[in-house]
Amino acid sequence: MSLIDNAIHLPKEEMPRQWLNVLPQLPEPLGAYKAPDGSDMPPAALGAIFPPKLIEQEFSDQAQIPIPEPILEAYALWRPTPLVRAYGLEKALKVNSKIYYKNESLSPSGSHKSNTALAQAYYNHEAGIKRLTTETGAGQWGTALAIAAQRFGLDIRVFMVKVSLAQKPYRQAIMSLYGAEVLSSPTTLTQAGRAALEQNPLTPGSLGLAISEAVEEAAGRADTNYALGSVLNHVILHQTVIGQEIKKQLALVGQKPDYLVACHGGGSNFGGLAVPYVADVLAGQKIQLLAAEPAACPSLTKGVFGYDYGDMAKLTPLMPMYSLGSDFVPPAIHAGGLRYHGASPIVSSLVKSKIATPVAVSAQDAFQYAKLLAQTEYVVPAPESSHALALTCLKALELEKAGTPGVLVFVLSGHGLLDLSAYENAPD
Ligand SMILES: *Cc1c(COP(=O)(O)O)cnc(C)c1O
Repeated sequence: MSLIDNAIHLPKEEMPRQWLNVLPQLPEPLGAYKAPDGSDMPPAALGAIFPPKLIEQEFSDQAQIPIPEPILEAYALWRPTPLVRAYGLEKALKVNSKIYYKNESLSPSGSHKSNTALAQAYYNHEAGIKRLTTETGAGQWGTALAIAAQRFGLDIRVFMVKVSLAQKPYRQAIMSLYGAEVLSSPTTLTQAGRAALEQNPLTPGSLGLAISEAVEEAAGRADTNYALGSVLNHVILHQTVIGQEIKKQLALVGQKPDYLVACHGGGSNFGGLAVPYVADVLAGQKIQLLAAEPAACPSLTKGVFGYDYGDMAKLTPLMPMYSLGSDFVPPAIHAGGLRYHGASPIVSSLVKSKIATPVAVSAQDAFQYAKLLAQTEYVVPAPESSHALALTCLKALELEKAGTPGVLVFVLSGHGLLDLSAYENAPD
């Protein structure tokens, strides 16, 4: 009997001990953040909503930042995550390419968001903060932060985008189970929420608006800080454990990647995949870094590069990024985690300098390949992750046609077991 060993596991001791900071490597330095009124903004201004260590990381010029012991201990609950060779998927696609997926769905929250949630909760706890506010779209971030808040003894209030809450009621249940208070955004508790409701009482809500609510509350209370699950430099920093592990895992089986693919909402799982490979790309290695974004919210492929706000009420700093405009309310697609008008400044910079390439993926392709993954690998991908999966499959088919099979890796950023209503209503 021959048993196929399809999962590449790293031993615990091989878990990365540091995060990689891409800021010193960028060909063009990131433009400084600006205050909401457009004036220069000293980093300390962020102190109203973030702890000192995270602000330091946001603007750090250190190439590597050591991961503190309590965060490593928390990571060790499930990391390193396996890199899995998708033999079943390859066979179904009839391709000679090797397809691997990095399984970030095995975290306690079911997504890669735990990598930064635990770090952010730890640094807030260390700074004496008692309470966190945040927003959540599809619910994965709220779940990850609820667990992280439990781990480090913080209270948490989650503003969940109204349309997502209606689509995914079990998300509220699980966040509450982990001790979070979950509100449907917009609420009447904040000025931003009241203004949005006045304008349109039936608004489906948006991530940009939920961010406004969470930031407004955190800025107004000394015991409360705000935590963001994507976009910012320190969030991408924390996600670099993903790409670092993949590098070691591919080396174990003597493979080099031709295509590295992740979905793109605010840029954190893509950044976490891409950043450890930026030096290789700059050194001339032929690695394509592909960001899969939804055709319905194409901030990287159709957005404009420039300064824009991270939220709808224009409370956040102005950041240099690709954006569809902070007042853009994306259609109510099921990949709620990809419904964001902007992109991270880091990923925007990688795209602008052609180190990374964005590709828009249709919801139909995403669902079609999600079904194929479920039926061949027995994994139900999150609707967000399905965009990376679909792009990987389409690329593998294209390579097959050209007679040039390669090595493709995509990030399975989360599982879709709490997104089954999306599958029930999926386009055929
Ligand atoms: C939040 C989320 C995304 C999108 O966010 P990024 O910051 O772009 O990674 C993608 N997949 C899953 C499972 C998510 O929870």
